[in-house]
Amino acid sequence: AVRFERVTKRFGDHTVLDGLDLEVGRGERVTLIGPSGSGKTTILRLLMTLERVTDGLVLVDGQPYSHMPRGAGGKLVPADERHLAVLRRRIGMVFQQFNLFPHMSVLENVVEAPVHVLGEGREEARRRARDLLDLVGLGDKAEARPTRLSGGQQQRVAIARALAMRPEILLLDEVTSALDPELVAEVLDVLRDIARNTDITLLCVTHEMGFARDVSDRILMFDRGRIVESGPAGELLESPTHARTRAFLGSVR
Ligand code: ATP
Repeated sequence: AVRFERVTKRFGDHTVLDGLDLEVGRGERVTLIGPSGSGKTTILRLLMTLERVTDGLVLVDGQPYSHMPRGAGGKLVPADERHLAVLRRRIGMVFQQFNLFPHMSVLENVVEAPVHVLGEGREEARRRARDLLDLVGLGDKAEARPTRLSGGQQQRVAIARALAMRPEILLLDEVTSALDPELVAEVLDVLRDIARNTDITLLCVTHEMGFARDVSDRILMFDRGRIVESGPAGELLESPTHARTRAFLGSVR
């Protein structure tokens, strides 16, 4: 499970997260919605250790996962880096931009991290990569260069690449926002399949409310670094209680 305890994140004097408490259970699917700038991406970036908390704690399976303040002085004490690297490996992320290696084949893009980070044998990694490319519907593109693929295909490669690391937790950050509208469905269908057929923990930021409803157990509505409303997906989307949620849903539908 992932836990945020009173997490505050500031950039200069701009408070992006303000004493956030959040828990995502193992296997749970949670979607974060809310206006631009409300702190959703920052939550995912903290989990990827691409950012550090200003205050509070991020825990994965009860283990501190961030540089943590200690003592009355609030001095930041770095978590053990090796320990952190091991925890960090349990989490995979797919971004808005696909960031595939252009000089490698699709297959090599998927094989790279399991071999170099997990130390998997190359043959085993290639076999698994082929299975994952089949899973995302790109079994026939293994030898192609990513630049020859459409945006939707590239994003599906990025999904296969993230899964190749066998993450327990998958973070999805507006994975269809950079795509032409006609390519959105193929990516969301692959993610729906993954949600249906695995027990992976999902934390996603999306403006695709139909997708959010299909995959999420819970939706959290953010505004200015705080959760203003949360609830089961259908309930929150159909009968939001908070005026901010109603206004936001009105703007994305
Ligand atoms: P969006 O949908 O636009 O991505 P969001 O809810 O994901 O919105 P965040 O990306 O978490 O919001 O950003 C929250 C705020 O933090 C924004 O106002 C952003 O400008 C600011 N911010 C994020 N990263 C930095 C940084 N490295 N330095 C300064 N400000 C930052």
